[in-house]
Amino acid sequence: MMNNASLEQFETKLRGPLLRPESDDYDNTRRLWNAMVDQKPALIARCTGVADVVESVNFAQEHSLPLAVRGGGHNVAGLASVDDGLMIDLSLMDSVHVDPEERTARVQGGATWSAVDHETQLFGLATPSGIISTTGVGGLTLGGGFGWLSRKHGLTVDNLLSADLVTAGGEVVKASPNNNPDLFWAIRGGGGNFGIVTSFEFQLHDAGPQVLFGPTIYQLKDAAEALRHYQAFASDAPNECTVYADFMTAPPLPFIPKEVQGTTVLFMIQMYVGSIEEGLETLKPLREFGNPVADAVAPTLYKEAQCRSDPLFPKGRRYYWKSHNITALSDEIIDELVSCAKKLPTAQCDILIQQLGGRINEVAPDSTAYPHRKSGFVATLGAQWEQEAQDDEPVAWARDCHAALGEHVQGSAYVNFLSHNENQEWLQAAYGNNADRLRRVKAQYDPNNFFRRNHNIVPSAAG
Ligand SMILES: Cc1cc2nc3c(=O)[nH]c(=O)nc-3n(C[C@H](O)[C@H](O)[C@H](O)COP(=O)(O)OP(=O)(O)OC[C@H]3O[C@@H](n4cnc5c(N)ncnc54)[C@H](O)[C@@H]3O)c2cc1C
Repeated sequence: MMNNASLEQFETKLRGPLLRPESDDYDNTRRLWNAMVDQKPALIARCTGVADVVESVNFAQEHSLPLAVRGGGHNVAGLASVDDGLMIDLSLMDSVHVDPEERTARVQGGATWSAVDHETQLFGLATPSGIISTTGVGGLTLGGGFGWLSRKHGLTVDNLLSADLVTAGGEVVKASPNNNPDLFWAIRGGGGNFGIVTSFEFQLHDAGPQVLFGPTIYQLKDAAEALRHYQAFASDAPNECTVYADFMTAPPLPFIPKEVQGTTVLFMIQMYVGSIEEGLETLKPLREFGNPVADAVAPTLYKEAQCRSDPLFPKGRRYYWKSHNITALSDEIIDELVSCAKKLPTAQCDILIQQLGGRINEVAPDSTAYPHRKSGFVATLGAQWEQEAQDDEPVAWARDCHAALGEHVQGSAYVNFLSHNENQEWLQAAYGNNADRLRRVKAQYDPNNFFRRNHNIVPSAAG
């Protein structure tokens, strides 16, 4: 039974602080990026290292406490907290150690990508990550992970060399091609279902320090034509080049004409990772197409490009996402996307189309747990707003547009883009043909489903 004596004993075993609802830092630590999910744990263990994580797992097991693991706290489904349970907060575990000779980085389980880029760019190196620097390394990696470098160097999990985990039994284990290979397979796309990763080891690559980066911007009336050209361009673009299309309300940036600001536009955001001259040549057909109203593609520090969009997705707003993997942007899909963009319900909502392909799709769908190796794009209906009283309209917009797009697409989704109330059908679609093997590995490492505050894989020895 959990009583004052057991709590005090637990607290003395931890090096980091144990927060209770009355602690000063409690609210700040329990609050997540998405204010739609507002859970109140009974306790928060702010772990400083592996030993604290082991003590916390053992304490939660002994007292049958529901458990949540917080990496960056950035997941749209708000899975990093739990009502009346124990939150294991890894955010103090944020060190990054780069070995420039081996071109590897050892990253603690609670670091954010801004910390990784900060340290790796010192040596002109990087590993594929996401497009927002405040995202946690933990959640992004365990779901797969893609961003500006992925067409050239693969998913984040394709660059994972090994990981150290604490299991449901409180054991410290290594996962790598030679150590617990089933576990290593499962954590490369199966999320936080198998244990708490206390450190990741990544392969690094040359990147920057300067890359070619920025948007070419079209008015909504020209968007369908621009997207058709984008599809043609994307289909044989070199892997150094990645282009994301984003419908949004034009912000008041100096390079956007005043009369366009505040209207819905299509940003065609480009990155070329390689020589600036080659990049300028490669991106020319895209930048010169049609009638763009603005173009701000320019040599940019990779590190700066990695946090350029951070202000568009601040912590503490209300968010709801629905997304689809897309093989190719057909005319029907493009028309549907434009129709959805005409109905953006708030000025913060957007529709982001991320280009995949390249090295991502050169890996077999069953060689890691991430199964979507044939998708060309991911389109996300990103509803974002400020006030709880406004909840209904943006959520309905995302759902309606998702359903309309669903008529034309393959019906699968990226696990890291699922919202908190997705049904089982979408969960199954997110793990795809790897779901059975994931259930078997889960049965081996977490047979009682202790780690279930995640996009859950229910253990089954039969798969
Ligand atoms: C604005 C925005 C942009 C994004 N862009 C991209 C993108 O470009 N590419 C992309 O791939 N993804 C992107 N994502 C999705 C992102 O990958 C997920 O939200 C991811 O889950 C965030 O990781 P986190 O550690 O911050 O999350 P958290 O909310 O802390 O955790 C998410 C899940 O992972 C588990 N977890 C976290 N760390 C660990 C750990 N060390 N060990 C075990 N379990 C852990 C948690 O328990 C939870 O179940 C984006 C998200 C946002 C909000």
